[in-house]
Amino acid sequence: MRNCCNSIKGLALSMLTVFKHLFKRPVTLEYPEQRLTPPENFRGEPFVKDCIKCMTCTKVCPSGAIKITEDKFYIDLNKCIFCGNCTYYCPVKAIQMSASYELASKDKHDMNLVYDISKKGGEE
Ligand code: SF4
Ligand code: SF4
Repeated sequence: MRNCCNSIKGLALSMLTVFKHLFKRPVTLEYPEQRLTPPENFRGEPFVKDCIKCMTCTKVCPSGAIKITEDKFYIDLNKCIFCGNCTYYCPVKAIQMSASYELASKDKHDMNLVYDISKKGGEE
């Protein structure tokens, strides 16, 4: 008898949970037709523009994802943990985090971002 009461109570509780969620707005989206707009401080794919090659970001990057040569700026997204340290410490805000979050790829070489920093601007 006690087991039977517990089962009915459990069933009632689970039905209550189902009904509570039945009228709530869904938290998921019909991706890729629908997409979330990331918040303003979202840390997505980093990008570089007008770098002065001070090398600060290479020192504060905890995962060694950044490499800078005479004319190229490399960011390895396979290593990047999107901590934002590089953007925080850059004295001229040359490196920023974008809102881009669709970074999955079957080829790991796609995850290597290369920027030309030999001239002002710095195109990928
Ligand atoms: S976001 Fe963090 S891990 Fe990624 S490049 Fe910048 S400092 Fe390195
Ligand atoms: S991105 Fe900023 S911190 Fe990194 S080398 Fe360029 S200017 Fe210095």
